[in-house]
Amino acid sequence: MKALLIAEYRDGKLLENIYELIAFAGKIGADTATVLVGDAANVPRCSGTLYLADVAKYSEYNPELHKQLILAAVSKENPDYIVFSHSSYGWDLAPRVAASLKIAQVSEVVKVIDGNFEVGCCNAKMRRIVKPSTAKSVVTLQAGAFSMEGEPQGTPTVVALDVAGGGNVEFLGYEPAEAKDVDLGKAEIIVSAGRGVGKKDNIPVIAALAKALGGELGASRPVVDAGWVEHSHQVGTTGQTVSPKLYVACGISGAIQHLAGMKKSDFIIAINKDKDAPIGEVADVLVVADVMQLAPALTEKLRK
Ligand SMILES: Cc1cc2nc3c(=O)[nH]c(=O)nc-3n(C[C@H](O)[C@H](O)[C@H](O)COP(=O)(O)OP(=O)(O)OC[C@H]3O[C@@H](n4cnc5c(N)ncnc54)[C@H](O)[C@@H]3O)c2cc1C
Repeated sequence: MKALLIAEYRDGKLLENIYELIAFAGKIGADTATVLVGDAANVPRCSGTLYLADVAKYSEYNPELHKQLILAAVSKENPDYIVFSHSSYGWDLAPRVAASLKIAQVSEVVKVIDGNFEVGCCNAKMRRIVKPSTAKSVVTLQAGAFSMEGEPQGTPTVVALDVAGGGNVEFLGYEPAEAKDVDLGKAEIIVSAGRGVGKKDNIPVIAALAKALGGELGASRPVVDAGWVEHSHQVGTTGQTVSPKLYVACGISGAIQHLAGMKKSDFIIAINKDKDAPIGEVADVLVVADVMQLAPALTEKLRK
């Protein structure tokens, strides 16, 4: 079995998410080849062929042209799977490739079960199991769902990739987002509020615990969507990715999209009423308690 992995290059750098694609290929037992529109000084540590298209010629963002490059590599490798990260680059390109090849696309895969793919649905409240019914398929992977064990290794055989044509989008550059009131990426301690805190009026209780620990307030997406906390505090795939020394998850169930943003924290404490909450799978300590009773008591102790 062969998987063609689509690496990403942004702002002059190779993105680390290529190693999630390699981990996925390992899970399905596929040999790999990789496509990168990038430069020879920034190639991934991997095995197999790396089809390298020069970013100076093809630009960091030009979906029509990048699609042509990927199709050229597909014709050389004849892969069973063409694998993208479910990122702004991947979700833009993947359907173009699937449509051109008239093959199935499975988006936001979070798990492989007996060769079938599990994807989230119903706002991640349910999981759907699917199997592509075409011989080849395009797959996009949820950020953080797959990770390599150990350090990436290998030196790819680099093959230059070229196609004719100009594409129909001109990439003009990046513009940084507006500065946020908090930079969770730099915080050493984060205490995050989830839907389990119950209501907006309870947020100051979690913020007080964060302050007593000398940390910052984080939040899960429903808390942000409900307007209880600003988006700059959101942790997860559509928020920030954090890796503090201590992460305290208060009333957070542990959906994959939240875990993707915080599972690299050094030490994770979860406070949850449900002893079987999935957050327990990544937590170093799971405290089974009502967070609205425990958090104020902890804050008081810490203040003393
Ligand atoms: C495309 C997409 C992107 C997403 N991006 C993100 C993202 O970036 N970040 C993110 O967080 N989510 C994201 N989500 C949403 C995600 O799938 C989950 O819905 C969300 O993380 C759940 O938030 P939660 O854990 O706060 O709420 P819930 O899943 O409702 O969990 C609440 C938890 O609180 C516990 N609880 C209830 N009462 C108490 C109490 N009194 N004391 C202690 N525990 C209690 C419950 O047992 C439960 O485990 C995304 C979803 C999609 C589809």
